[in-house]
Amino acid sequence: MCGACCRIKDGIVRVSDAEIARIAAFLGMDEAGFIECETDVAPDRKSLVLKSRPDGSCAWLTEANLCRINPVKPGKCRTFPFEWTNPDSSSVCPALAVQS
Ligand code: SF4
Repeated sequence: MCGACCRIKDGIVRVSDAEIARIAAFLGMDEAGFIECETDVAPDRKSLVLKSRPDGSCAWLTEANLCRINPVKPGKCRTFPFEWTNPDSSSVCPALAVQS
């Protein structure tokens, strides 16, 4: 719960159609409104991603390092760093840095 992985500069959180539907329902929004207001097109233009703030942090991260959509957060968030990492993940994630 350090929030480090939610603050990666240039990091992206891809969202699938099913994830968009779940998050929108959780927020009481319609999917089209969620897509328009809360997502951007990924840099590779292959998917949508959750919006980030200018400092690179995820728009859903609170000042207390909590995820405002935690019950329905995307799979990418649920599975890091247990099911996937990037080569530079240990420089971002304190838990991985301890292991290496
Ligand atoms: S959706 Fe939640 S867990 Fe995922 S990056 Fe944003 S704040 Fe972090």
